[in-house]
Amino acid sequence: ARSAAASAPLTPGALADGTAVPLLANLGSPDGAAEAVALGAEGVGLFRTEFLFLSSNTAPTVAQQRTSYEKLFRAFAGKKVVVRVLDAGADKPLPFLNDAHEENPALGLRGLRALRASEDILREQLTALAEANAAAAADGEAADLWVMAPMVATVEETEYFVALAREYDVKTAGVMVEVPSAALLADRVLAQADFASIGTNDLTQYTLAADRLLGSVASFQDPWHPAVLRLIQSVGAAGAALGKPVGICGEAAADPLLAVVLVGLGATSLSMAPTALADVRQSLLSHSLDDARRVAEAALAANDAATARAAARAAAS
Ligand code: PEP
Ligand code: MG
Repeated sequence: ARSAAASAPLTPGALADGTAVPLLANLGSPDGAAEAVALGAEGVGLFRTEFLFLSSNTAPTVAQQRTSYEKLFRAFAGKKVVVRVLDAGADKPLPFLNDAHEENPALGLRGLRALRASEDILREQLTALAEANAAAAADGEAADLWVMAPMVATVEETEYFVALAREYDVKTAGVMVEVPSAALLADRVLAQADFASIGTNDLTQYTLAADRLLGSVASFQDPWHPAVLRLIQSVGAAGAALGKPVGICGEAAADPLLAVVLVGLGATSLSMAPTALADVRQSLLSHSLDDARRVAEAALAANDAATARAAARAAAS
């Protein structure tokens, strides 16, 4: 199936009935851009900026950041590029943002919380993003830049981030939904933001209360769990009601069958490792939106992840 999928023409992501589902790439460096485009990425759904600076002891300068961002924007000129501001902490500590020892770093000062505690670093990043896209725009190579904050837990954090991003001329400012509180209040979060992007890795970790780095609880880290699917459904419904995009950028989007479920739950785009794009594209093409909703209902009706997966497989065939 993989070679057949890989040799299929790279049409934009769509369901069997023609419903568009843009297929985007998760990237941690502009170096992966050309390969992502070759594999059919229609844009970038998650640019993990912290990956650029994991080995830095000091905060990157605006100039350093601008070079990387500009390279990325030019590679995706005219296309959607969703940049996540630094997601420091827990599995991705950055010495210049996370200095205190914490007993439970996944529940600590991470993501937007850490940036807010060092707001100058967040402001510098927004400055670098604006300058990079302006430089690309001078040659007609600007990207359609969307900027989002990680680890948002509250409506107030959403308001804070969107207002700050607007100061830097960000036209499309959103938040990641990866904490259950943000999913449960998705209607209010999305009332403040231009879009949401669901990070299923952390959303699963926090919903099942199982450290995503801990092997002994790895069996809980399964985005097929109906509790996770329900939260995704509520975000999808809020997005539909408000007319706001709801993307998925966690690993779940790379599972061809789960991708169908996610669209059935209301996801409007899917972002994944570029190597997963071909199989997900093929899978979407064999289901209509009605099918996807039916498959999603079958998964939601299960009590556990394994049953949800089996029920979806049966409903999809
Ligand atoms: C996620 O949590 O699903 C996500 C996309 O972010 P990361 O894996 O970088 O934490
Ligand atoms: Mg995350």
